[in-house]
Amino acid sequence: MSLVRMDYVLKKAQKGGYAVGAFNFPDLSSIQGIMQGAAAKNSPVIISPPVFTMDEMGEEMCIRCIETLTHEYPEIDVVCHLDHCSDFERIKRCIDYGFTSVMVDGSALPYDQNVELTCKVVDYASRFGVSVEAELGHIGGVEEDIVVDERKALFTQPKQALEFVKATGIDALAIAVGTAHGFYKQKPKLDFERIAEIRAITDCCLVLHGGSGVPDEDFKKAISLGITKINVGTELKITGNFDVQKALFAEATHGDVRKIQHQVRIKTQEIVEHKIDVFGSAGKMAQ
Ligand SMILES: [Zn+2]
Repeated sequence: MSLVRMDYVLKKAQKGGYAVGAFNFPDLSSIQGIMQGAAAKNSPVIISPPVFTMDEMGEEMCIRCIETLTHEYPEIDVVCHLDHCSDFERIKRCIDYGFTSVMVDGSALPYDQNVELTCKVVDYASRFGVSVEAELGHIGGVEEDIVVDERKALFTQPKQALEFVKATGIDALAIAVGTAHGFYKQKPKLDFERIAEIRAITDCCLVLHGGSGVPDEDFKKAISLGITKINVGTELKITGNFDVQKALFAEATHGDVRKIQHQVRIKTQEIVEHKIDVFGSAGKMAQ
């Protein structure tokens, strides 16, 4: 069906008991690898430009590249979803250019201001049929070096999550349950009980960020408890792209960067296909 709203694919995932991967990309070769992975697995996919990529490529170029690729794979449902953004003007621009979903991140703000910013985005997005994800609690990055007890204090509180969903009318909620952005220095410890508790009191689509380096069995457990969207960024940026470029630059490439881009696509596709298998969304476009 090509470009669709995010809640369209996530509601199906919620019913079917699987999750859909939301993949960040650092460049064009990575977007191609992500699309090829989704098409090879016949899976819906969320392609999610982070603001750092848009600083380089621009919002319009990101959406046009994704849109153009959907013409090559018309059988796959693709969501073009802006990742973490706290800048209302930029969110508005992305919606105006045709993104089908946006994430407003007001998690660093006090609760009331997070609600206020999120409502403002929902109000604008709903006029264009665009879905909205927001964040409550603080997911943060591995580099923040927050000790476990302190990090736990920043986890999403189930009752507040229900209140937040009702107050804002969002389609998806990113929850802080022990994952973090970046590669983990040690195995992450997910608060599975908290996922189940939040799932039990709201039917809002639940999102797990920080999917680079979470063991496959933990993903599966989190999905069985109600997670329907999983973000993967660092693994594609480093393992799928940077490491490939570094290794090939060390060899003689005769200045032909296309050979490197080709390998980035292949490696990215490989990572995406594996995640799709773990998340359980393989073959779901055929149903
Ligand atoms: Zn994130």
